[in-house]
Amino acid sequence: QAAIEAVALTKEYENGRGCRNITLRVEQGEAFGFLGPNGAGKSTFVKMLVGLVGPTSGQATIWGQPIGSLEARRLIGYLPELYRYQEWLTGQEVLMLHARLCGLSKDEAKRTLPELLEEVGIGLRGQDRVKHYSKGMQQRLGLACALVGGPKVVFLDEPSSALDPLGRLDVRHLLLRLRQRGITIFLNSHLLEEVETLCDRVALLNDGRILQTGAVRDVLQEK
Ligand code: ADP
Ligand code: ADP
Repeated sequence: QAAIEAVALTKEYENGRGCRNITLRVEQGEAFGFLGPNGAGKSTFVKMLVGLVGPTSGQATIWGQPIGSLEARRLIGYLPELYRYQEWLTGQEVLMLHARLCGLSKDEAKRTLPELLEEVGIGLRGQDRVKHYSKGMQQRLGLACALVGGPKVVFLDEPSSALDPLGRLDVRHLLLRLRQRGITIFLNSHLLEEVETLCDRVALLNDGRILQTGAVRDVLQEK
């Protein structure tokens, strides 16, 4: 059973841009990089897989469940590129909101939350309002939100692009830990080094099309 399987998945916007004919398979526990310049179609592809954008044609499944279905959504964690928080809430409150939206009971959520805040390195700052968080802290919170339902596959859309070098290092360590726990990772990035250090395999995307797919070493050294 593949963690992610897409067959000829296509989204064409009115302006002709989007994602064309994307076929790929990501195995369970794999860290897969989707590498391409801005505007290549990375976000569009991930939005289709998490059920936010409907494909024009083609199919895809998450653990055998059709994308957009409730069954698929339950298996997914998603860190969007630009997550806008309710910044008057505290980190803990944002996470609680996500937990309840994921279907956790209040008691379950209360039990899980401190551990999750610890894991992403927010800890006691969970009691501060989000408006006092740096971008790096906001990404940590976003990651906690993506993890709250105990997903099997996590989609990360450019998690480091707004961060300074220290923030990037932070995100890298967090993702390495996810990998070690066996969570399947799908990482959108335009940063070569991010994909290089984290991913097993990579697909190169340009203008909505895949140019090449393969082991990180093979693909990135040839170019
Ligand atoms: P990436 O994530 O690689 O930067 P995107 O998937 O965001 O790429 O965008 C791919 C292309 O599709 C871009 O040219 C973008 O302008 C276009 N696009 C994205 N979203 C929309 C939309 N809602 N309507 C029309 N065009 C869009
Ligand atoms: P577009 O430009 O195509 O409208 P956006 O990324 O602005 O794309 O729309 C997707 C929005 O949905 C994001 O702002 C994001 O905050 C929200 N969203 C939906 N589902 C989730 C989720 N599971 N986790 C976090 N944010 C989500």
